[in-house]
Amino acid sequence: MSTLLQISSISKNFGEKQVLDNVSLDVQEGKVVVILGPSGCGKSTLLRCINGLEKIDGGTIKFKEEPYSKDSDWQTIRQQIGMVFQSYELFPHMTVMGNLTLAPIKVQKRDKKDVETKALELLERVGLADRADAYPHQLSGGQKQRIAIVRALCMNPTLMLFDEVTASIDPEMVYEVLQVIKDLKGQGMTMMIVTHEMGFARNVADEIIFMDGGHIVEQASPADFFANPQTERAKQFLSKFLYTM
Ligand code: ADP
Ligand code: MG
Repeated sequence: MSTLLQISSISKNFGEKQVLDNVSLDVQEGKVVVILGPSGCGKSTLLRCINGLEKIDGGTIKFKEEPYSKDSDWQTIRQQIGMVFQSYELFPHMTVMGNLTLAPIKVQKRDKKDVETKALELLERVGLADRADAYPHQLSGGQKQRIAIVRALCMNPTLMLFDEVTASIDPEMVYEVLQVIKDLKGQGMTMMIVTHEMGFARNVADEIIFMDGGHIVEQASPADFFANPQTERAKQFLSKFLYTM
């Protein structure tokens, strides 16, 4: 198994504030890494550094053995690293199919028919094949988020980053979105997932990363992390999820 992503001692500052401090982490191909930690500990910043939305101030990130630098071709990197956020930001004036095929056709210059076939196939997988001609306002939050995931998958990424993708959708829609991510694991997709859904984290993760204050505090298998957290900080964090685990 090869290492897809290699993060070595990275740091990131916003002004005086150090938001990531000496963070190191390898992600093996086909593995699912779940990042847990309190609000403000640097989870989103870490994901944003991985797909180049933020520049690191120290350390190195290598994707497919290529180190990031100021000369990196971000457009090419971002085509391979799909990212899905809490807000889905679909174009309101375009149908689902229009939203899904826009970047593959315009950015990747792929054949329209091929992309549409691929998009339909993916829509089918997430149970939304019948919504290809719908507009975003006709969809529920859970449906829009599944479309946002499909939109990222249409680029044929090798790594998927998920940043609290169920945080703003109705509780009864959360399951269907998490199920899509679980299916992706079944298909061998490499993923990094920030979530506060602890049951899901335990179920889907190959490895748990627990962050606090810009550091990685614990790194363990889900079985070990949830049954036997090593630090007071992690114990305290987990105690807040007593009713949802
Ligand atoms: P998390 O996702 O774990 O909640 P973030 O990565 O969003 O944490 O934020 C980590 C810290 O960095 C927080 O203190 C946040 O206020 C700060 N931060 C994030 N983005 C910026 C920014 N663009 N400018 C200044 N501070 C930021
Ligand atoms: Mg965040």
